[in-house]
Amino acid sequence: MEHLLEVIYLIAAVTFMLGLKMLSKPDTARKGNSIAAFGMILAIFATIFIYRDAHGMHLKNLWWIFIALIIGTVIGYLMAKRVQMTAMPQMVSFFNGMGGACAAIISIIEFGHLEYGMPEDFSSKITIILAGLVIGTVSFAGSMIAFGKLEGKINDYCMPGQQFFNVGLLLAIFAASILFGTEIIGGSAWFYSILGLSVLYGLLFVFPIGGADMPVVISLLNSFTGVAAACGGFLYDNYVMLIGGILVGSAGTILTVAMCTAMNRSLLNVLVGNFGGGSAAAGSGSTQGSTKEISLSDASVLMKYSKKVVIVPGYGLAVAQAQHICHELESILEEEGVDVKYAIHPVAGRMPGHMNVLLAESNVSYDQLIEMEEINPEFNSTDVVLVVGANDVVNPAAKTDPSSPIYGMPILEVEDAKNIIILKRSMKAGYAGIDNELFYRPKTYMLFGDAKDSLTKLVTQIKAS
Ligand code: NDP
Repeated sequence: MEHLLEVIYLIAAVTFMLGLKMLSKPDTARKGNSIAAFGMILAIFATIFIYRDAHGMHLKNLWWIFIALIIGTVIGYLMAKRVQMTAMPQMVSFFNGMGGACAAIISIIEFGHLEYGMPEDFSSKITIILAGLVIGTVSFAGSMIAFGKLEGKINDYCMPGQQFFNVGLLLAIFAASILFGTEIIGGSAWFYSILGLSVLYGLLFVFPIGGADMPVVISLLNSFTGVAAACGGFLYDNYVMLIGGILVGSAGTILTVAMCTAMNRSLLNVLVGNFGGGSAAAGSGSTQGSTKEISLSDASVLMKYSKKVVIVPGYGLAVAQAQHICHELESILEEEGVDVKYAIHPVAGRMPGHMNVLLAESNVSYDQLIEMEEINPEFNSTDVVLVVGANDVVNPAAKTDPSSPIYGMPILEVEDAKNIIILKRSMKAGYAGIDNELFYRPKTYMLFGDAKDSLTKLVTQIKAS
């Protein structure tokens, strides 16, 4: 039986890796997700029915386990079914926080077992327990703040000297954990103090982060949850939990590093928190000048008679659910002989890969999605850039205004194109809360309205003309 369980764990681990590999391409992502989920279900049921402890006993409290599984499945299913596409990032953040909380709870329970049993391998066990506790708790507390920020319910908050306070807090957690692991201090009071400090660090670490830096933090918290889950795998000698945790941890870390590179940030800054100005009010933001509007017919003629059009999708595309009509516009322009591409900024939208997911949903060819570094040199040979609900990712303040919360973030350099048409509903700011000079530039034309509505009208105009 033990060997059967190991074989099933091996199969589950292979499905995780396969799933992860398939998630890297929009056209295989859905299948990859299902394959990995199947592996996880297999591992859970194999553990419930096949696992035997050192005395040959199977798992107890099966009723409790099934009740928890049913409650969790129903809640998860309903949340995933009902969530609006635009609220997906919040939900991902919430689920990630739940993973961190689970890892912390495992540590709390196993600490209770340690106190009474006091096994010989105390120091190695307590090290893993504390690692799971601290990392899981930071991930939970931080993810809850990230959830609140993405929901727009929590504002950026930063107290004077917070960077130093955060570093001090982190050092205090390390020091207390080392003293605890080496039995210089001990007992429940110290254990729960470390838990409390970790909650505080998780909150303070994410509170000040705003502007363009949230994506980096979200992917870092994701990797924390993976590492915390891997600690559970060590504790229970459970290979599938260990491999699953390590895969999430390492994939999250790779994504974090990629995000940091894309955003021109250092990982150290992320860990300390409070970078990027942390406030929507930062930046000079007082843009002068007037904007020019363009009519639907002028916009459609301009695009129809262009050689090359680049579409820049942003968060507003997701809000408007305009991905299908956007694809239709692209198709009719191509029928007219126009070369159409999409420019994908690494943090456009509200979650990593948000634009890729949306556009894949409407069957836009993967080859047409061009990453920022590749598309930037192409803008000077572009006749029209159509910015669909994007704002921060095309804001020149990232290059020109050192006081801006997005300063240093590489942007899509759409200004190099001959004409820029912006689809948005008003002059309101984007996520970073700052004005955008691009809207006032001579080559820029505003087409106000809901993106889906405007794109539908543009498609009708082009077809009719
Ligand atoms: P922004 O949030 O900067 O701008 C979105 C724009 O879309 C707004 O200016 C809004 O203007 C417009 N909009 C909203 N709804 C509609 C609609 N129905 N029709 C037309 N326009 C609409 O988006 P970007 O994608 O440019 O930038 C992403 C921002 O989010 C960055 O600051 C990034 O750091 C941050 N972020 C990204 C995460 C990620 O992982 N990708 C995670 C967390 C934050 P108006 O209201 O006038 O219509």
